[in-house]
Amino acid sequence: MKNKEKANSDWRVNYVPVDSKINWDEYFMLQAMLASYKSKDPNTKVGCVIVDDHNHQITMGYNGTIAGIDETLIPWGNNREVPLEHQKYGYVIHSEANAISHAKGNLASARVYVTLFPCNECAKLLASHRVREVIYLSDKYSESPENRIAKKIFQMSKISYRQLSLSESTLEGFSSYLKSLIKIK
Ligand SMILES: [Zn+2]
Repeated sequence: MKNKEKANSDWRVNYVPVDSKINWDEYFMLQAMLASYKSKDPNTKVGCVIVDDHNHQITMGYNGTIAGIDETLIPWGNNREVPLEHQKYGYVIHSEANAISHAKGNLASARVYVTLFPCNECAKLLASHRVREVIYLSDKYSESPENRIAKKIFQMSKISYRQLSLSESTLEGFSSYLKSLIKIK
């Protein structure tokens, strides 16, 4: 009887304060960063994750070459002084385009997490699929015509965009967590 009384009085013990280490923006950007890490492009690795209003992932992708072809035959260098057929730009599919082509669901009103601000070609695709928002990590080509066109497309399509900054402490926390996982046998 005494034990039962004790159990009844201690039920609150499991109602402990809980919190996630990362918010939704960080969660999806980290996924986009992971996708970019899979890219074989030696110069620019980009990852993209597209999510719905319920924070469920619809699709993800990274920049790569055409599915099913021998990619050792592709020129991966970024020298633009040779003819286009000998540049990677003639063959590589951007992360956003890959994510869109592999999407299992409708992208209308979706949020797009991408490690690099989209080019105009991807902006056209994203706008045609009626996505709602683009969240990006880097905008290192912000002065390029492709970038300016992309922003113009987003403004005309009423697609909002914002830059996300990930703190080093968030990344360090995640890195320590990953290391802890591989230690568990
Ligand atoms: Zn693009």
